Amino acid sequence: MKYYILFGPPGAGKGTHAAAIIEKYNLKHISTGELLRAEISARTPLGMKAKTLIDDGLLVPDEVVEGMIVSAFDRFKDVEGFLLDGFPRTLGQARDLDRILGERGEAVTAIVSIMIPDELIFRRIHKRASEEGRADDASDETIRHRISTYHAQTEPLIQYYKDAGKYHEVQGDSPVLEENRARVLDLMGKLV
Ligand code: ADP
Repeated sequence: MKYYILFGPPGAGKGTHAAAIIEKYNLKHISTGELLRAEISARTPLGMKAKTLIDDGLLVPDEVVEGMIVSAFDRFKDVEGFLLDGFPRTLGQARDLDRILGERGEAVTAIVSIMIPDELIFRRIHKRASEEGRADDASDETIRHRISTYHAQTEPLIQYYKDAGKYHEVQGDSPVLEENRARVLDLMGKLV
């Protein structure tokens, strides 16, 4: 199995480009954000706890997202691999993922990182707020918290995966969506 990590700040276009990647390479897309939003819509106890944190721009506890990831690995067997989107998001999660995969005789294949500057994060998320109505896109304060959570807790993963020789980056800053998608697919093509 291949294990690709789609990485980048909020609004980088991970969810948008994931669809094209999984179709082209027969991967299962696992987005922890989407899984959490499904729990919130279903009003599960996990969803209710996660909602308060997500609406504040904070991360949900590692064991919650890791439980969701392991259960997805167990459920989907007839794919070439997985495209992880929104996970790992902390160094602890990255180390746990290495352990979880190691116990299965597997390893992370590569990181596909989409980079955009902070001011573009704001513009993209404002646009998405009017299109998709995500609660955590609605307030500037939440967006600001998500950006600082990204810099403080998620950005250190870049060095972690550079050290592992698995980090690959494209710029996701073109105003033309197809141009950004072409860059991501072009990089994926070199990694499979
Ligand atoms: P975005 O990339 O726009 O920030 P996501 O859909 O990936 O959006 O995540 C939405 C929210 O869900 C995050 O801000 C965080 O609160 C929570 N979340 C998603 N993935 C994780 C994770 N791996 N660890 C902790 N919290 C997470």
